[in-house]
Amino acid sequence: MVLGAGPAALCIVSELVQQGLEVIALASHSPEKPWPNTYGIWAEELEPLGMTSLLGHRWTNTISYFGDGVGKKGQLPIEHNFDYGLFDQVALQRALLDKCNGMIWCEETAYKIHYLKENTEVICVSGNSYQARLVIDASGHKSKFISRPDQGPVAQQAAYGVVGRFSSPPVEKDQFVLMDFRPDHLDEKQVHEPPTFLYAMDFGDGVYFVEETSLACSPPLSWNTLKERLIARLAHRGVEIEEIIHEEHCLFPMNLPLPARNQPLLAFGGAASMVHPASGYMVGALLRRAPNLAKQLAKALALDPPLDSASLAKEGWDVLWTPELVQRHRLYQFGLNRLMSFNESYLRNFFATFFRLPKEDWSGFLANTLPLPRLLVVMLRLFFISPLHIKLGMVGLVKI
Ligand SMILES: Cc1cc2nc3c(=O)[nH]c(=O)nc-3n(C[C@H](O)[C@H](O)[C@H](O)COP(=O)(O)OP(=O)(O)OC[C@H]3O[C@@H](n4cnc5c(N)ncnc54)[C@H](O)[C@@H]3O)c2cc1C
Repeated sequence: MVLGAGPAALCIVSELVQQGLEVIALASHSPEKPWPNTYGIWAEELEPLGMTSLLGHRWTNTISYFGDGVGKKGQLPIEHNFDYGLFDQVALQRALLDKCNGMIWCEETAYKIHYLKENTEVICVSGNSYQARLVIDASGHKSKFISRPDQGPVAQQAAYGVVGRFSSPPVEKDQFVLMDFRPDHLDEKQVHEPPTFLYAMDFGDGVYFVEETSLACSPPLSWNTLKERLIARLAHRGVEIEEIIHEEHCLFPMNLPLPARNQPLLAFGGAASMVHPASGYMVGALLRRAPNLAKQLAKALALDPPLDSASLAKEGWDVLWTPELVQRHRLYQFGLNRLMSFNESYLRNFFATFFRLPKEDWSGFLANTLPLPRLLVVMLRLFFISPLHIKLGMVGLVKI
């Protein structure tokens, strides 16, 4: 049984069904209900999966700006030379649902979970209860069923975005801007506040998406602050919002501790802390990791004598969070903690250096596809090519 109908639930349900398993899913709303978020991804991540046709937009002109200091015009962009895409959410949702043939979806909100001798029972707000040999919680990062250690305050990525029409183009035609960190619109006080950047893209037909983003902060920046910063940044470039077609309010945890891996409930997606702690991306990981997990569960479910829920969940946790993936996650969390201590000038310098790494290194870092030894080498290389003050910041030897 799977809880949820977001990207994580649909990814894992579709793969379980492909394994010939009998699956029931409980979700607070219909799985056909359109997802509220826009999901972006580096196009190359979809190539081995044969899913590039699910991109609604794809940009080849992909750049970032890391500025040159307050009041200066550090306007030269870094060109990524790497295609970026936004999913056509409806097409992605449809493609996954089409692979879920024959299974049962129930519009129910799970409320309590009981572990019985062999099965797991889910009690719903409606009063109905359902039993399954294994429950996979894909109800998002706010899941109240998954236990995880308390490691103190959790950093959140926050963003306020607008899809709309503008008095003049906020980015060039056919362009995607991953990070515009130019600080030339900030005054001396504002440069000491938590840094934010602009994520922006041309949708064509005079429509653009612009989003002011705080990579990770605890407590998170408020949407009002992000909105004010977005408007100020655009105004500095002589751009005003003329029509709002859609507003995006984004808030999700970046460094949620990994779930306890000895619990009788398995999780997938936000509930399983699968968001990349250094970038905030997750959809690529869902698509890559679901098939293997489903295969392992199918194997475990076929064992005779049958395994109970706790043993099945353990089989799942062992595949989902292998020792290698746990180590990589720790390295990313370490990196994020250092970045969160950086002021805006350090952060800009850090990212300008990061994108000087070879493309396969920085893209593999962001997608979490580098094997552990390679990831260590890339992190060391990043350290060595960084300016001295950033090196000292990385090892915590300067107070920033
Ligand atoms: C605005 C925004 C933009 C993002 N952009 C990107 C991006 O560009 N690229 C990327 O890779 N990642 C992005 N992320 C991060 C991450 O991919 C998303 O948060 C993603 O939606 C998480 O997927 P999920 O399925 O785990 O959880 P959710 O999408 O939160 O889905 C949870 C599902 O569970 C259901 N549910 C909740 N509680 C219960 C319950 N008790 N019983 C039954 N059902 C329940 C909900 O109704 C929902 O269907 C973004 C996140 C946000 C918030």
